[in-house]
Amino acid sequence: MPDRIVGDQIVPDRRKPVHMSPLQEAAEPVLKELYPGIWRRAEADIDQLWRLMYDGVWRDHGDEIAADIYAFADFHPVAEQRTDEAIKAWSDDCGEKLEGEYSQSYYRVAVHVGLLAYVKQMRELRQRMHCEHGWHRIIEKFIDACSGQPGFGFVSAGEKWGGLSLVYRCDQAGGCREAERVAVERAAVTCEKCGSPGELRRTAWQKTLCDLHAGSRHDD
Ligand SMILES: [Zn+2]
Repeated sequence: MPDRIVGDQIVPDRRKPVHMSPLQEAAEPVLKELYPGIWRRAEADIDQLWRLMYDGVWRDHGDEIAADIYAFADFHPVAEQRTDEAIKAWSDDCGEKLEGEYSQSYYRVAVHVGLLAYVKQMRELRQRMHCEHGWHRIIEKFIDACSGQPGFGFVSAGEKWGGLSLVYRCDQAGGCREAERVAVERAAVTCEKCGSPGELRRTAWQKTLCDLHAGSRHDD
């Protein structure tokens, strides 16, 4: 059965399997809590409309939703910046590029719940990032890159001899190794304290720091 037109909206065929991205999967509990009317899958076709529209916006715009979520994280690298208010404001701004009010509103909902889930997940994972804040976003990006890989599980991250060290599980190491290489190289030129451009400083300690923090190193 092809997608149907109801009113002037395209309703996706519900018999098509829904392949949830890891982000959409993580957003399900948040959707259930904040938008139970959309989350619920009812028997009657008409009651499923909201759910179908929501799944449809992920199916058709999943990459853009993910890009908007990651962009928020890039602009708000520090945990304290990632407030519910900032997330709501960000998701309200998203979706402007879509045609039609209806799609825009579902797109905003998808970014809202996806972002809340993402930030919550990263807040938990940061408990296992045993390095300073400047590298946290680099480690998050590593986790993002690996999240679709079979058997991937983040164990911990830390600083070793001034460099970034990652510990993780993965069934097929290929994709994760490449992501690890990128993260380690990025950390090698990033101040561990603040995220500004930095380099390895060899003093009593080895640390990757920017000029400012290398200068204040002994004041810690
Ligand atoms: Zn710095």
